[in-house]
Amino acid sequence: EPGLRLLRDRVRAFPDFPEPGVLFRDISPLLKDPVAFRTLIDLLEDHVKASFPKIDFIVGLDSRGFLIGPPLAQRLGIGFVPVRKKGKLPGATQSISYSLEYGKAELEIQSDAVEPGQKVVIVDDLLATGGTMCAACELLKRLKAEILECLVVIELKSLKGSEKLNSIPFHSLLQYD
Ligand code: IMP
Repeated sequence: EPGLRLLRDRVRAFPDFPEPGVLFRDISPLLKDPVAFRTLIDLLEDHVKASFPKIDFIVGLDSRGFLIGPPLAQRLGIGFVPVRKKGKLPGATQSISYSLEYGKAELEIQSDAVEPGQKVVIVDDLLATGGTMCAACELLKRLKAEILECLVVIELKSLKGSEKLNSIPFHSLLQYD
């Protein structure tokens, strides 16, 4: 697929970032190239339109899910809901702590962000161990949302993060070992 090839050409790898032993995949060149960025949103839009007849919200994960989720939601004509790192959201929140590829963190969602039964697709830039996406799913389950899919640009296959998501449908555009 030429679109996917373009995206892959716009992802850089940085060894030993943010710490020794981690090969960091950087989507900055992709975001910087308007044709590649549009192609990314085109491919995500095509995928979700072909997969789901009705979605209520795109949920995006702090921080790079905020770069991809809103343009996708706009294309679909639906709203965007942020899942944020701890302490950023006002009002009543649900929160969950989880471990990630390098360290620990806590995620939050506003308690009134989604009504029970509403259908959501959760987006992020990258799935590594799956800890972040799993935690986000837990928050949405607490709000009784129906998670149609977890959707990422990049999947780091060797970390087997998609297995952690169990029965929740998962899709990635690009896969790396
Ligand atoms: P996980 O929780 O181990 O799956 O890590 C995924 C989260 O960490 C996502 O929110 C990513 O943005 C971030 N992350 C982990 N590894 C990378 C990487 O190589 N490049 C960019 N983001 C990464």
